[in-house]
Amino acid sequence: MIDTNETDTPAAGNRPGPENSQASGIRPAARLWLRDPLAVHLGAGVDQDQAARGIVIDRATETIVELVPAGGEPSSGGADGATGADEALEVVDASAHVITPGLINTHHHFYQTLTRAWAPVADLSLFGWLLNLYPVWARLTPRALELATTVAMAELLESGCTTAADHHYLFPSGMDEAIDIQVDVVRRLGMRAMLTRGSMSLGEEAGGLPPQQTVQDSDVILDDSRRLVEIFHQRGPGAQIQIGFAPCSPFSVTTELMRDSAALAAELDVRLHTHLAETIDEEDFCRETFGLRTVDYLESVGWLGERTWLAHGVHFDDSEIGRLGAAGVSVAHCPTSNMRLASGIARAVELEDAGVAIGLGVDGSASNDASNLIREVRQALYIQRLRYGAEAVTCDRVLDWATKGSATALGRDDIGTIEVGRQADLAMFRLDGLPFSGSHDPIPALVLCGAEKADRVMVGGQWRVIDGRAIGADGVELDKEALIAAHQEEARRLVAG
Ligand code: ZN
Repeated sequence: MIDTNETDTPAAGNRPGPENSQASGIRPAARLWLRDPLAVHLGAGVDQDQAARGIVIDRATETIVELVPAGGEPSSGGADGATGADEALEVVDASAHVITPGLINTHHHFYQTLTRAWAPVADLSLFGWLLNLYPVWARLTPRALELATTVAMAELLESGCTTAADHHYLFPSGMDEAIDIQVDVVRRLGMRAMLTRGSMSLGEEAGGLPPQQTVQDSDVILDDSRRLVEIFHQRGPGAQIQIGFAPCSPFSVTTELMRDSAALAAELDVRLHTHLAETIDEEDFCRETFGLRTVDYLESVGWLGERTWLAHGVHFDDSEIGRLGAAGVSVAHCPTSNMRLASGIARAVELEDAGVAIGLGVDGSASNDASNLIREVRQALYIQRLRYGAEAVTCDRVLDWATKGSATALGRDDIGTIEVGRQADLAMFRLDGLPFSGSHDPIPALVLCGAEKADRVMVGGQWRVIDGRAIGADGVELDKEALIAAHQEEARRLVAG
């Protein structure tokens, strides 16, 4: 038994748990007991007493192997010596923490961390915002993308996120290996990712919105999409890297490419992602260009099925909500982005009630401008309460969106919940700081008091955040000072042109 918390008391506010054994070279124990948490988010309507005394992780299988109920001890032996020493069990005192499944982000554009809070677009809605940003983004370089991806993922990780989807659709000259660059960053940080091979093929010369230098030929896009799946896509429980296909939006991609992407996704059995029904401008574009509303367009190109998850989904009518639910489409709800660009309030509760899985997305950092997923949970709660009232939109419900719903949107059933057999992807939030002082109930406190950062984050049984700081897959703390300096320099260069 290795109990590293013998002198800890919650009142003293000591940091929990062992030092990072990966970094220190000490061989970690085979199993880990996260003991006596304030609360565990097991899901809306689930009996929380099942895990009142914590969670046991098996490092070899990288999974959750036991929930310890109220009054119980881990079945393989306790950690207090009274029930038998167990040298294979390490204990982390979680008595100041709420534990949630690792949060899952379903929509982002990592490269946009280079254009956060840029005054020329700070007060514009979607189409004007895009037209000003496209020429800046067209100057993206491999180095800038590497840094932007690292910044976005590290920021997500420290906010409690363990799996992140990225929608990268920008492949200007010299950026042919954009997704390869992102794969390297994911591996370095030790997170999980759904990296989508995005695309734009409808330039302004053909009636699209993006400038010509940002679009590619369909053949190039489809060949690269196939290549990426063959090289990087992992299947089954515990997958670290997955590839999906993500034509950008109806106004930046040809109808043929939408159809061909769906056919290739079916052939290779990977997921499909796109922006849809984000704004009224987009709705107007679809009517004028295709003579169809957005969901009719989606159906016409073979996308109305379980393989598809949509970013935003703000402007659907009643019948469209029913059709999306019946088809098993999922939606990445992006509250902050929808407020920042004044796009509207997604009908998330009605979509979910109709059978659409709702995940959360922070969206790209040019329209959020933060990559903070626990903050997004709070934003979702508040914007949805404006539409549906407080009773319908509970703290548990929005936490389910950021975990279970997001996992479903990404086509995964091995992550997103705390259950025996699931991947050991967890986030631990301390509730002993000023913002939580005087709070009574841990789950509402986590959401309502405004948690900003996780204290600890685990991916597949390995600590990736300790004491609020990101630890790379090599066990070494991320040098954020150097990262920020290099990223800032690239950001300035990009905007300067
Ligand atoms: Zn987006």
